[in-house]
Formats: sequence, C-alpha cells, structure tokens
Amino acid sequence: MRSRYSAYCHKDINYVYQTYHSSVLPNNTIQEIEAFANSVHFVRLDVISTEQSVDEGYVTFELIYIQDNFLCGFMERSRFVFDKGWYYVDGVLKDSTPNKISRNDLCPCNSGKKFKQCIIHVPSGSGIS
Ligand SMILES: [Zn+2]
Repeated sequence: MRSRYSAYCHKDINYVYQTYHSSVLPNNTIQEIEAFANSVHFVRLDVISTEQSVDEGYVTFELIYIQDNFLCGFMERSRFVFDKGWYYVDGVLKDSTPNKISRNDLCPCNSGKKFKQCIIHVPSGSGIS
C-alpha cells in the first residue's frame, strides 16, 4: 500500500497500474492514473489500520492532498488479494469536504511558503472517477 502511494508521488504510473488486480484493470487506464497523479500534490498518508490473512488484506488509510486550490482528503479501506504478490482490488471510500486554500494561507504541503508563492502546485487536469 505504501509502495503504491510513493509510486503515485513519484509518478511511477506503471507500478500503480501493475499493482491493480487484473479484475479491476479495465476501470482504470494508465492515462487516467497519470492524469490524477499529475493533477494533485500529495501532502500526507496516514495508515490507520491493517488486517491481513493468507490471501487477503485490508489497509485503512487517510490521504491528504492538494488539488487546484483545495485541500482534499479521504479515508479508504482498501482490499488487497495475494496472487503471487499483493494486488489492489477495491476500496470503500469515505470522502471529506475539500477546503479552499486562500492564497495567503501557509501552504499545507509544509513548504513554509504562502500558497500563492508555493511553486510546487500547478493546478491542472482533473481526478480519476
Ligand atoms: Zn506547497
């Protein structure tokens, strides 16, 4: 799970794509994953709990990211199956309301800069559905 998150951060789209279980691949094209990764800036991932059996695992995490001028976050309980390696199958989402970031606020990415001065965040694109 953490490896998928860092792959997103480093825009290692192929890794993200390859760790989807084959049964869900048709729902997520490489282009969609790439568009999402390019349109957001990840701030934080907190793993809240993990459960694992021999062939199935669950990871509950909270993800915080910046998209356009909003600080967004969601909690997800992801399901993984073991099939010669762990693969992501699906997850139950608990969305939270995005908060608009004011241009003069300190940037939530902890750069220490004001949001309007933080050059990391270039708004573009849209998320995956
Ligand atoms: Zn920033």
